[in-house]
Amino acid sequence: MGKVIRKRAAEASGPFLGLHFAVYARKSTEDARHEDHKSTARQVDQARRYVESRGGGILADQVHVDEAASGAEFQDRPGLLRFLNALENGRPFNALVMSDDDRLGRDQYRTNYLLQQIVDKGVRVFTYLDGGREIVLDNETAKFMQSVRSFGAALEREKARQRCRDAAEQKARQGLVTGGEPYGYENVHHQGGKEVPRGQPHDYVKRRVREDQAQIVRGIFKAYSAGWGMTRIAKAMNGHPAFADLSREYFGGGRVPPPWKRTGSWSPTMIREMLYRRLHHGEIVWGQTSHVDRNGRAGVRVKRPEDGWVVIPAPDLKIVPDDLWEQVQERLAATNETYLRDVRGKLWAKPELRREGRYLLAGLARCGECGWNMTVLGGSPQRVYGCSHHHKRGVCGNGLTQSVSRVDSAFLGALEREVLTPERFAYAVRCGLDRVREELAKDPDRRPALEKERAGLARKIERMVAAIGDGKGPAALLQEIAKAEARVAEIEAETARLAAVPALGGLDLKRIERDVAGQLGRFADLLKGNVARARQALKKLLVDRVHFRPVDLGNGRRTYAFKGELTYGAVVRELICLENVPSGIRTRVIGLKGRCPRPG
Ligand SMILES: [Zn+2]
Repeated sequence: MGKVIRKRAAEASGPFLGLHFAVYARKSTEDARHEDHKSTARQVDQARRYVESRGGGILADQVHVDEAASGAEFQDRPGLLRFLNALENGRPFNALVMSDDDRLGRDQYRTNYLLQQIVDKGVRVFTYLDGGREIVLDNETAKFMQSVRSFGAALEREKARQRCRDAAEQKARQGLVTGGEPYGYENVHHQGGKEVPRGQPHDYVKRRVREDQAQIVRGIFKAYSAGWGMTRIAKAMNGHPAFADLSREYFGGGRVPPPWKRTGSWSPTMIREMLYRRLHHGEIVWGQTSHVDRNGRAGVRVKRPEDGWVVIPAPDLKIVPDDLWEQVQERLAATNETYLRDVRGKLWAKPELRREGRYLLAGLARCGECGWNMTVLGGSPQRVYGCSHHHKRGVCGNGLTQSVSRVDSAFLGALEREVLTPERFAYAVRCGLDRVREELAKDPDRRPALEKERAGLARKIERMVAAIGDGKGPAALLQEIAKAEARVAEIEAETARLAAVPALGGLDLKRIERDVAGQLGRFADLLKGNVARARQALKKLLVDRVHFRPVDLGNGRRTYAFKGELTYGAVVRELICLENVPSGIRTRVIGLKGRCPRPG
C-alpha cells in the first residue's frame, strides 16, 4: 500500500474517508473546452483538492499522466497503461479520480469498456468537474446514461476535428500555409501585414519561393524529362561518383544538401513526390488526405477521393515552367502505363524505377551453345545479336549474328501467336488448378483445420487488444499479439491458396478467356510499343532467359531458333482477383518456340 500524502487532520472525516485514490490526467491539443484540461499539473491539483476536501487521500505513486495524448488514442498512452497495470497488479487504490470521464478517452465503445473494467475490479470512479460525481455502472440505466455521456464526448471530438478542418480549408483557400514546408519554398510569418521572424506571434503564414532550392527542383525536372530515372537522380544528388556527369549537368556538380528535416540524403521517393507536386506548377492542392481514428489509434492518415480536393491557383509559387511540367507529367504517365494496370486500375506489379536497356532482348537471352548472354554488337549496316563469349572473349564457337530488328520481330510474333492467347491462358490456369486440387486431395481436412485455428487466433487477438491491461506488461502483450497476427497471416496465405480451387473451379473458363482477351491484347501492344516498356512487360512473362540456338538451314545458311519458358503469374494474380494465388498456381507451363527468318 502506497503512502497517503498531505492528509490533513481537519479533514479526517467526510464522504471519501477510507478511500485511497489514483489520479488519471490527460491533456491533448483538442481540449479547449475547459481551462482545467489545459495542463495535467492543474488537473492533478484540482483532483487533489476535490479528494482531500472530502476526507480522501491520493496515493503519491498513483498519479498517472499522459501529455499530448488524443482521446482517440488507446495504444500509445503510457500513463493509461501504467494505471491499468496497477489495476491488475496489487491495486493499491480503491478509487480513481479524473476531471471528467472523457479523460479516459473520447471513443465511446473503448471508453465504456475501460470504465466497466475498472468498476468491475471494485474500484470507485469519481470525476470532479461540474460539482463532482461518481460513475456508477451497476444497472442498465446507469450504463445507458454513461454511454450517452461518452457518445457526447465522441461527438465533440468529431465536431472539433471538423472545426479544425474547416479552418484549415479556409486558410488554404486564401493561399495561406496550413502545414509543412515543402522543398523549394519557405514559410514566412506575418503579423499586422508585416513579416516577422519565426517564433514570434503571427496572424498567418504565407509561402515564398526559395530561389536556391527552386533551381534544384528545376534540375530534377530537367533530368527526369531527359530520361533519367529517379534512383539515378537521387544518387547524383547525393554525390555518388558514378553519376558525377549527371550531377554536373543538372545540379552544378557535387552533393546537393538534402532537405533539412529528413534523413540526410535524397531518395527516389522524394524525387518522385517532387515530380508530382502541383505546387511546383503554381497550384495549391489541399485536402488530399484526412485523419481518422482507426482501431484505437488517433489521427491515422488516409487518402481522400480527388473530387474533394481544393485546388487554388498560386502563380507566384510556380517554380517549373509549363512546358517542362508537361513533359515530366507525360513521362510519368507513360511510365505508369508501362506498369500494366488491370481493368480496375490496380498495378500488376510494383513499378521499377530504372532505365531500361535499348534493345528488347539484351540480357534476356542466352547463347544456346555456351549459355552466356547474347549481346548486341555494333555491326554495320545494322546492329546484331551475337554470343558475348564468342565475340568478346573467343571462348565459344557460336559466331552467328543476326539483325536485332529481325530477331525482335520474330520473337514478338511468336510471343503473340503462342503465348498471349486467351486459350493458352485458360489452359495455364487449369493446369495450376489441377496442381492445387492434387494437394487438397492429399489432405482434405487441411482447410477446416486452418479455418478453426484462424478463428481461435482472431478471438484471442481481439481479447488481447481489448484488454490492454491484461495484467501482463504492455510490451509482453503486444509481442503476443504480433506473434498471433503473424500466424494468422501464414494461415491466410495458405487458406487463400487452397480456397482458390473451389473459387476458380466455379469460374467459367470460357468467360475468363473472353475477359482476358483484351488484357492480353494490351500486353501485346505494350510489347510492340517502345523498347523500355516492352522489356518491362517481357520481364514479367519470362521465367528465365530465352535460349538462342543456331540451326542449320542447309546451303551453309544458319539461323537462330529460340526457346523460352514463360509464366502468367503477373496476369493471373490480378485477373482472377485472388491474392496469393500464384504461390499455388504456378503457370510455368507455357513454352515458346520460334525461329528467326532466314537471313538475306
Ligand atoms: Zn556462346
